[in-house]
Amino acid sequence: VHVVQAEFVKSSVRTEDFPSDGLPEFALVGRSNVGKSSLLNSLVRRKRLALTSKKPGKTQCINHFRINDSWYLVDLPGYGYAAAPQELRRDWSKFTKDYFLNRSALVSVFLLIDASIPAKKIDLEYASWLGQNQIPMTLIFTKCDKRKKKKNGGKRPEENVSDFQELIRSFFQTVPPWIMTSSVTNQGRDEILLHMAQLRNY
Ligand code: GDP
Repeated sequence: VHVVQAEFVKSSVRTEDFPSDGLPEFALVGRSNVGKSSLLNSLVRRKRLALTSKKPGKTQCINHFRINDSWYLVDLPGYGYAAAPQELRRDWSKFTKDYFLNRSALVSVFLLIDASIPAKKIDLEYASWLGQNQIPMTLIFTKCDKRKKKKNGGKRPEENVSDFQELIRSFFQTVPPWIMTSSVTNQGRDEILLHMAQLRNY
């Protein structure tokens, strides 16, 4: 299940640009600053394969990374930017929604949730959109190494995670599969790769 080869393939702005080899793919999505680039780099054991974006809101591209010549990690535009126009802030573009709804190679969406802060309404909204559209989803809790801080509501990552799960249960009855991670300690990295391997073999 380990990543022995990872290569950036392309950045797409239209559906027609996507790779057409039909290899299975896993999409990484989440709020801006959730730690998506860091997680991607941790999964592939590179420092800068996914350039940690310092200009949130600029990228509405969908980026394909081919792993071990046999599957893709797909980096999707984030949501919830502070500095972008309202419509981008609140919503995925039509391009991104089309990807979720129509991309046949998509195996599962990995929705990243920051475990170092209390659950955010916008994350629940996106989780519920994915759920309502019956898009297979795995919850990836990020930054689980962070210690609790007063200004973050004073809760430990484990408490934020269980609060989020409790909230999501009110939408779905069941909680999607979930993995706790840290790009600092690499917690959860092998678990994610194993989970992806299992999903590919279904
Ligand atoms: P992105 O906007 O979702 O791509 O987020 P980045 O990967 O650029 O990370 C946003 C910020 O969170 C950066 O300052 C990272 O150093 C920090 N960060 C990301 N992952 C972790 C993590 O697992 N633990 C801690 N403590 N910080 C993290």
